[in-house]
Formats: sequence, C-alpha cells, structure tokens
Amino acid sequence: MTKLQKPQFVYMNGRLVAWDDAKIHISSEALIRGISVFEGIKGYWRHDGAQFALLALREHYDRLARSAILNHLPFTVIFEEFRGACLSLVRALLTKEQDLWLRPTLFAVEGHWGADTVTDLVITAYHQEMKKPEPIDVGIATWQRPLDVGLPARIKSAANYQVGRLARIEGRRQGFADMILPNQWGRVAEATGSCVLMVRNGRVVSPPAYEGCLESITVNIVEELCRGLRIPFDRRPIERTELLVADELCLAGTLMELGVVRRIESRELAKHTPVLDTISEQFWACVRGMRDHPAVRLTAV
Ligand code: PMP
Repeated sequence: MTKLQKPQFVYMNGRLVAWDDAKIHISSEALIRGISVFEGIKGYWRHDGAQFALLALREHYDRLARSAILNHLPFTVIFEEFRGACLSLVRALLTKEQDLWLRPTLFAVEGHWGADTVTDLVITAYHQEMKKPEPIDVGIATWQRPLDVGLPARIKSAANYQVGRLARIEGRRQGFADMILPNQWGRVAEATGSCVLMVRNGRVVSPPAYEGCLESITVNIVEELCRGLRIPFDRRPIERTELLVADELCLAGTLMELGVVRRIESRELAKHTPVLDTISEQFWACVRGMRDHPAVRLTAV
C-alpha cells in the first residue's frame, strides 16, 4: 500500500501542531464539497549543504491568492506571515540530505455554499530524496481537462485533481507513470500534476493557459532560462499527433521538476535529449545555488 509520510508537525490555525492533532470537521465545505485551493512549493539544499532555500515562494503565494479569489475563499494571510509560516514548518522538519516539498492548503472550514466562509491555511511538508527525476513513460488519458467555464484549470483547487486521479488510475493500469490530459478539442492541456514541454526542431513549446492548464511557475522559470540560453520558446497549442512525433518531451512542475519522457503511448523517444539537457543543467545548477539566475528566486531558511 502506498503510504503518505506522516511528519511530526503540521502548520494549522496559525501555529505548529502535532500531525495527529491536525483535524478538520466532517461537516466543513472542505470535506463535503472538496473546497480548498493549494500550492506545492519545493525547498532545496544548496549543493554544499550550507543552506536550505524555498523556490519561488512569492510566486506560489501570489497564485494561491488568485486561486482563493476565484474560489471565493477569504485569504487574509499577508505574504510575510505566509513566509513565516512556511519557514517555521521547514525549521521544525528539516533534516540533512533531504529536500522538502511543502503543501500550503486553504481549506473552507466553515460556511455553506460560499456564504459566511471561514478558511484556515494549513501547511504540510514532506521529505524528498535529493535526486533528479528518472525518465518516465507517459500515456494520453481518455479523461479531459474541462473548459474554463466548467472546472477552471487556472484555479489550483482540490476539485481539479479528481479528473487527474481518474487519469492516473487509467494510466497505472496501462503501465504509465503519468498521463497527459487533452482538452475538449483533443489538444494537449497538461499532465495530472505538471505541464508539458515539447521540443520540435530546436524550439521548446508549451501550451498556453487557455488550452486548459495551470499557470505553471516551473514553465515560467524554464521560459526565462531559455531566453538566457538562446533557445526559442513558444506558447502555442499542441495537437495530439504533434506530441507523438516530438523530438523531446518533458513534464514540468514543482514536484515533477523536469521529468524527461522516455515513452509516449507506444512510441519510444530518442534517448538523446540535447535541448532538455541544456535547460535541465541550468535549472539544477540554479536551484542548488551553484549559479545565480534572476528567474530562480530562492528564499533562504
Ligand atoms: N498542472 C497541474 C495540474 C499541477 O498540479 C501542477 C503542479 N503545481 C502544474 C501544472 C505545474 O505547476 P508549477 O510548475 O507551478 O508547479
């Protein structure tokens, strides 16, 4: 059975509490309608182990605030308070030689159908191995990302992950580690927890948000890195057949990081991934503090 880590502490109700005491009532909208918005934030040890830092903290806070506005969830926590909360949890859980992935979630703990809503910012953090992702096999799901007027992908809400979960289950049965969800027009939207980067003829391509994907912070970072590396980067729709004949493919996200795709459906991709290797090398050097880049904003703990 796949078990979730149970770290000693959780941030809840403005303070650190023990894992077993982090409880939400069964009558809350967070539970009965799955009303919550969240973020995933990665923390990296510097290459020499001398410092630990969170990547793109401000960007994640800003996106959480946008998700809260769109989902009518009051979010009164200011950035400094949010940073303090994240840092306090990191300090309580940090261990040498393990990175952390933080999940700040804004839960609707009181209220009914969006009236008189009260929220609580809960932050959990999980230890991560300090290694780069292995190449993965990816399928194309029969499940679709809904339209912006259905279940908006721009909102990082729990509800969006119901479709992702169906796709993951579908993929697992076929031996795929992750699945790419098409939008209603059959074009690429995103994967279950990351966005898609395709390389064709030396250009990096990623679908714009209107194709049904989250506004990815990792993709924004990659776009900026590409500019510096003089690699052309386009935001444009990607058709299914284009995906199947891509020169190089990669899933990009905070938790996924830059995960090279080895196989898409039944097609093996070339082992040689020169464009993705160049981008990844720059990304890793920056997040581990070996190189500075304005796109890679680190908040030291
Ligand atoms: N799409 C989905 C559905 C995701 O869950 C994520 C991870 N947050 C992403 C894309 C990538 O976003 P980011 O690069 O900001 O982590």
